[in-house]
Amino acid sequence: MKLISVVVPSYNEQESLPLFYPAITKIAEQMKDQAEFEFLFVDDGSKDNTLQILRELHEQDSRVHYVSFSRNFGKEAGIYAGLEHANGDYVVIMDADLQHPPEFIPQMYQYVSSGEYDCASTRRISRKGEGKIRSFFSSMFYKLSNKISQVEIVEGAQDYRFMTRQMVDSILKLGEHNRFSKGIFSWVGFRTKYIGYENVERAAGTTKWSFWKLFQYSLEGIFAFSAAPLAIPMVLGILLCAAAVILAVVFAVVHASAWQAAILCVLLLIGGLCACCMGILGQYMAKMYWEIKNRPVYIAKEIR
Ligand code: UDP
Ligand code: MG
Repeated sequence: MKLISVVVPSYNEQESLPLFYPAITKIAEQMKDQAEFEFLFVDDGSKDNTLQILRELHEQDSRVHYVSFSRNFGKEAGIYAGLEHANGDYVVIMDADLQHPPEFIPQMYQYVSSGEYDCASTRRISRKGEGKIRSFFSSMFYKLSNKISQVEIVEGAQDYRFMTRQMVDSILKLGEHNRFSKGIFSWVGFRTKYIGYENVERAAGTTKWSFWKLFQYSLEGIFAFSAAPLAIPMVLGILLCAAAVILAVVFAVVHASAWQAAILCVLLLIGGLCACCMGILGQYMAKMYWEIKNRPVYIAKEIR
């Protein structure tokens, strides 16, 4: 019998877990002739009763295990810890809020266990229930990122993934501190089947992502998988130098004072652009700084 590990990063999910647990055990029951299950929750430094609930579930059900972080390390660290502790032949990562419907698991299992695919994932085909601005920026991110990054990220693809042990081991080899799972899943390769579905609203509790957090996360995605922004300063520099030479010639020929004002503006503009470019360099320097420190991705306080 094959073992399926269900990895669930959970941060302040006291309202969702009592709904999630029955839903996932129902699926385990449905599939009992095909596979065994273990449920591996990662309490990402929750401030509510999440850990209490996990302790109780662990007492009641020997299939429930958990890792509890010493503080909030973010969902990416939660996924990493979950993958590290999973024992299954297959691992499925999913959210605790039922936005990743457990009903897809049997279908995902079919795709992957047949050997046709190494990974099955879901993809939102609509952004129903999501703000207009958020949808707009999200779709901009995919377009830009796919243009300039080494990896292709499928639009609407989610962190809901069913993977083989081989793929999980490959992901664990990427021990980087700045983690961007969507990029990592794509970078390791393997054949992935995307199942399209309508967006589902959160079952309970509230989202932990503010617009600002999402914006930072998307920058993470670009800086972690593309060096293209580093080339911007050079291109701009060449263009600016050419412009400066032309202006100098023009200034020598025409002695109007309006030109002096114009040049002042240009100088200011150049200053501004330089600052932007330094900013881009700084981004990568900061990334290197964190990688070189080589800190662990998370600190666990309690593991059962
Ligand atoms: N999550 C986490 N750590 C965090 C933020 C979120 O482990 O710092 C978990 C959260 O408990 C949920 C999943 O990541 O299981 C997705 O979070 P959420 O539903 O808030 O995001 P959204 O669905 O709005 O993108
Ligand atoms: Mg959610």
